[in-house]
Amino acid sequence: MSISSIIGNTTVTTELKRALAGGKISHSYLLIGQSRQRTALGLEFAKAILCPESPDDSCGRCRICRKIDHQNHEDLLWVRKSGNSIRKDAILEIIETLSFKPFGSRTVVVIDDAHTMTLSAQNKLLKTLEEPPGPAVILLLAERKEALLETILSRCITYQLREEEEDTDEILLDIAVRWVELCAAGGPFYRRAELLEPFLKDRDRCLDFLDVTEDLLRERLMHGVGAEAVLTKKTNDLSDQRRLSPSTEGLRQTVAAVEESRKSLKLGYHIGYTMKSLCLCMDQRRITEESIWQK
Ligand SMILES: [Zn+2]
Repeated sequence: MSISSIIGNTTVTTELKRALAGGKISHSYLLIGQSRQRTALGLEFAKAILCPESPDDSCGRCRICRKIDHQNHEDLLWVRKSGNSIRKDAILEIIETLSFKPFGSRTVVVIDDAHTMTLSAQNKLLKTLEEPPGPAVILLLAERKEALLETILSRCITYQLREEEEDTDEILLDIAVRWVELCAAGGPFYRRAELLEPFLKDRDRCLDFLDVTEDLLRERLMHGVGAEAVLTKKTNDLSDQRRLSPSTEGLRQTVAAVEESRKSLKLGYHIGYTMKSLCLCMDQRRITEESIWQK
């Protein structure tokens, strides 16, 4: 996973990626939202900060990314509540850890369930938040900001994450556009597979994704129009198919591959294998930028 593979909260992820790309990472952040969301984004942001390979995200492949995925990277300290709260002792441990030099470029401390910090824990953290000793980034992940001292809030760059979103057409289209663009650009297989992860546990969601992807490909193929048109205009009739030009053969085959995957899913084939074959197929056919976005 990476920041780019996070669905929803696009404004936040775009801002974080911009900060990473510009080398403008602050030393303290607060992400407020539901548990799954804030933890996922917190982890991916931490990984992107520490990964040396990709300027605005994590690469997912280097030694550091792999170590973080296996939860054994020395420069990432993940603090959780003990019992119902995070006490002063835990903050003292953080301060001690930060007094050592990081193994790599910096230390990232993630304080999960930061809203459970006791008052004395919060007070103890204040100075460190303002001026971490050494090169460090502190990420607070919290359910609500009301439980945090004003002095903590004022020291953090705060992002309020939006609630879990349903798979609206817009979200599906957003993922489909990203996926097709990645395939067209010959992006690595693992990245293409990663974008599809949210669908792999649910056949219907996967079928919805394939529908939107096929519509997108067809629309681009026939009319070269903006992706937003896919939502309002379906182009499945045969008269449209006759308008294919020979130069778009590769793309036409891609549409056929998407249709093939849909059939397999409807026949009950394994979702993971079906989508993996589609990713591989998109790779072989390597739809070029020109063929997809031709005007
Ligand atoms: Zn990496």
